[in-house]
Amino acid sequence: MSWIDDPQFRADAPFGPQTLPYGVIPAGIAVRVGDQALPLRPLADHFGPRLGELVAADSLDPLLAAGRPVWSELRARVVELATAVSAPRGASLVGLDDAVLPFRVADYVDFYSSRHHAENVGRIFRPDGDPLLPNWTHIPIGYHGRAGTVVVSGTDVVRPSGQRKTPEGPVFGPSQRLDIEAEVGFVCGGPVRSRLTPSQAADHVFGVALVNDWSARDIQAWEYVPLGPFLGKSFATSVAAWITPLEAFAVARVAPPHGDVLPYLVEEKPWGLDLALEVEWNGVRVSRPPFREMFFSFAQQLAHLSSNGATVRPGDLIASGTVSGPSRDERGSFLELSWGGTEPIALDGVERTFLEDGDTVRITATAPGEDGSLVGLAEVVGTVRPVDER
Ligand code: CA
Repeated sequence: MSWIDDPQFRADAPFGPQTLPYGVIPAGIAVRVGDQALPLRPLADHFGPRLGELVAADSLDPLLAAGRPVWSELRARVVELATAVSAPRGASLVGLDDAVLPFRVADYVDFYSSRHHAENVGRIFRPDGDPLLPNWTHIPIGYHGRAGTVVVSGTDVVRPSGQRKTPEGPVFGPSQRLDIEAEVGFVCGGPVRSRLTPSQAADHVFGVALVNDWSARDIQAWEYVPLGPFLGKSFATSVAAWITPLEAFAVARVAPPHGDVLPYLVEEKPWGLDLALEVEWNGVRVSRPPFREMFFSFAQQLAHLSSNGATVRPGDLIASGTVSGPSRDERGSFLELSWGGTEPIALDGVERTFLEDGDTVRITATAPGEDGSLVGLAEVVGTVRPVDER
């Protein structure tokens, strides 16, 4: 029996003692316990001088820099305190609201590692070519995104403006094809390093947080050849407020369904993850993307990213790429769900294709935990606002 009196702080609920994600609220660094938050700063004395200083900080940045041995030590102590029979001196529970972006995003890199997504997009954007380009099964394809416009879950997303192609030529204006991408993000830390092996790479991942990589398909379709995504993606990327430590996913590991890869990408023990995502559009569940289908793991993505000598540093955010499964109701974008806008989706009896102003999208996920428990990934939610309301 834990001293924490929250019916959601149980092993069969997503935010029980097996999960304990970190976030930052006005009271400082906290861990999520069920539907409440436990601020750690008032408990700093219980952690000893080194960990105490880290949990009393204003953000997770010093903790991210501290590295894996410190993360493991801290998690063990947090579990002890949260599952103690009586409340530790100074402990109190507060609401989850008003969580802020818990770390300073250093570099943001977005991959493209769902074969189903890549093939669907290939069929929609290049109907006359092969759905998959020849490099795709060999290279974890990705691009460098815009760290400065990564926003915390709950932040409104203003409809982007940009150029789009019309039969009369290019025009400029608000995007008419605003979309989501349901993704899984990996928050990096530890010493600055390059040329990581996949198993070293895993030691540089602090935790996991859901990402919605908002995408303007009309801007993207016109600009992306020959250099890839630019303004169609850079206006906003939402990330969950609570980061679930990588340790919580020990029993969720699976082998990605890929074939032969070059030696620098071979994993001794694969880091595919059995995460079940859910996408809700205005409260209606429209998709359940399976993360276990991803072709490359985050460890392979990080090994590839750093293979040329580029460094991985604390605060780097690595996103998986849109998570799509083989069936229609497992697609992680509305581009795919509506097949380029040609097959509308029924949403409470109304036919819809892309996002309208006022729409809200919420993405959640769970994974199997130890002893039949459930490990949760906190929601990433955002509402679309018209451009002139800003
Ligand atoms: Ca993306």
